[in-house]
Amino acid sequence: LTVLGIETSCDETAAAVVRGPGHPQILSDVIRSQIDEHTDFGGVVPEIAARAHIAVLDRIVAEAMQEADVGFDDIDAVAATAGPGLIGGVIVGLMTAKAIAMAAGKPLVAVNHLEGHALTARLTDGLDFPYLLLLVSGGHSQFLLVTGVGAYERLGTTIDDAVGEAFDKTAKLLGLPYPGGPAVERMARAGDPDRFAMPRPLLDRPGLDMSFAGLKTALRTQAQKLEPVDEQTVADLCAGFQRAVAEVLAARTRTALTLFRDRFPDAPPVIVVAGGVAANAEIRAALTAAATDAGARFVAPPARLCTDNAAMIAWAGIEHLAQGPVDDMAVSPRPRWPLDETAAGKLGSGR
Ligand code: ATP
Ligand code: MG
Ligand code: FE
Repeated sequence: LTVLGIETSCDETAAAVVRGPGHPQILSDVIRSQIDEHTDFGGVVPEIAARAHIAVLDRIVAEAMQEADVGFDDIDAVAATAGPGLIGGVIVGLMTAKAIAMAAGKPLVAVNHLEGHALTARLTDGLDFPYLLLLVSGGHSQFLLVTGVGAYERLGTTIDDAVGEAFDKTAKLLGLPYPGGPAVERMARAGDPDRFAMPRPLLDRPGLDMSFAGLKTALRTQAQKLEPVDEQTVADLCAGFQRAVAEVLAARTRTALTLFRDRFPDAPPVIVVAGGVAANAEIRAALTAAATDAGARFVAPPARLCTDNAAMIAWAGIEHLAQGPVDDMAVSPRPRWPLDETAAGKLGSGR
């Protein structure tokens, strides 16, 4: 199967052509980030995002098709993110995909963006089900149990900010540029993580839920006491913050792996990390150590496929098509779309 994928749910406009499911091949993977459009505002502005998607999507799709050296006759389906995400962007991507599918006479697959993240490790590392997924991005922070295509169980989630969001807000607070994750990580390298005491929110409680808003508040309180903050203080605050996040994620990962073993005593334990925050070296190291301690395999797809991209959407389309015919032409864009509602039959059209 050869599938064109389209992703427009946040601040990257992306199109890709992927072949599979056997011996999967990414024939093209074009991503245009909107960082420049949003940087003056210190975050993604939904209206600007939607307009920017409209302006470039046709060209990005053409580029992806050209790079893959395929025409619309050569593809078997069009897959597009139908949610969750910023509604303006999702509308642009899904409607463009519907138009292409209709004109080319190919089926449309409406993909849940989170499902794209959840299935990426099968594209990159050929993983078998079941496995654990830790998704840590700008909009999501959750542990998922992935037991099959369309079979996802959310085991725990942040009860307030997403990890990436916490990084972004921390950066803003300290006067660092957007996106905050890379900026905070850079500063943290020169910082002392032990200078400021940072909380480890919710870790005294069982289960897999997480909280990151309190960390940001603690950091603000510390920073305000020291006004004006010098460069070293900013570095120390970043280091303390990042250490706290890494420790919380590692502790929760240990708990998640215990739970996985209880549920699947015969399956080799595997934890996959995805989302933009997975690019963070300290967090990666902490998660690797947690997995190794628990005798589990740690899988992190390449950074380009961890953050938002269209190859993962095309791949999710392939995974669904491999299970039987799909016709999602009647599906509407969904700003909110919990992953456990992606299960077969719940979309209400063709599945
Ligand atoms: P979602 O996928 O949830 O819809 P998103 O588009 O914001 O949202 P991604 O593109 O996967 O998600 O990731 C972007 C987020 O990752 C931002 O919040 C950014 O600050 C964070 N991030 C990127 N690099 C790093 C890093 N090195 N350390 C920490 N966080 C990072
Ligand atoms: Mg993004
Ligand atoms: Fe994403």
